[in-house]
Amino acid sequence: MTSNNKDKQTIVEYIQNWSRKHSLFVMAYGTGCGAIEIPATMTSRYDAERFGIRGAATPRQADVLLITGYLATKTLKRVIRVYEQMQDPKYVIGFGSCTINGGMYYDSYNTINALDRYIPVDVYINGCMPRPEAVISGFVQLQKQIAEGTANNAAKYKENLEWYRANQKKIIKNWRMPDYNW
Ligand code: SF4
Repeated sequence: MTSNNKDKQTIVEYIQNWSRKHSLFVMAYGTGCGAIEIPATMTSRYDAERFGIRGAATPRQADVLLITGYLATKTLKRVIRVYEQMQDPKYVIGFGSCTINGGMYYDSYNTINALDRYIPVDVYINGCMPRPEAVISGFVQLQKQIAEGTANNAAKYKENLEWYRANQKKIIKNWRMPDYNW
C-alpha cells in the first residue's frame, strides 16, 4: 500500500517481512485446470524460484496456499483443513477466474463461486487460465503486501471465524471434523 505503512514498521518487522517475502514455500492445491501452468511456472523457462518461490511438501511447511481454479464443494472441506493446519504467517492466492466468481462453473451445483467467502484470499490472479507471467505477477503482488506488512488476512480469518464457519457449514453438509483445526 502506501509508504506510510512501511514507515510504521519497526526495523525488526521490516527485516522479518523482507525475509518472508523472499522465502515463499507454496502448497499448490491443484483443484482445477489451471494447475497445468504450475510446472511451467516452476521450471527453467519461467523459474519462479529466482523470486524465492518454491514448493512445500506439507501444510505445516507451507507459507502460501495456491488454489488453482474451480473448487468442488467436497474439496472445499479438505482445503479448509489444509489452510487451518498451515502455520502463521500464511497467505492464500486464488488462481483463475473460477476462484473469483465461479468462472464458467458459476452456475454449477457442486462448485463454489467466491473463494474468499470460505477462506481469506490475499491475492487473486484473474484469467482462464492465467499464464505463468500472470502467476509470477500475482506472487510479486503478494510479496509487496508482505513487505508493507499488510498481508494479514490470516489474523482476520481468526477474528471473523464465526462468519467463515457459517459460510463453510452452509456448503459442507457432512462437516464431521474438529471445529478448530490448528
Ligand atoms: S479459471 Fe478456467 S482454467 Fe482455471 S479452473 Fe476455471 S475453467 Fe479451468
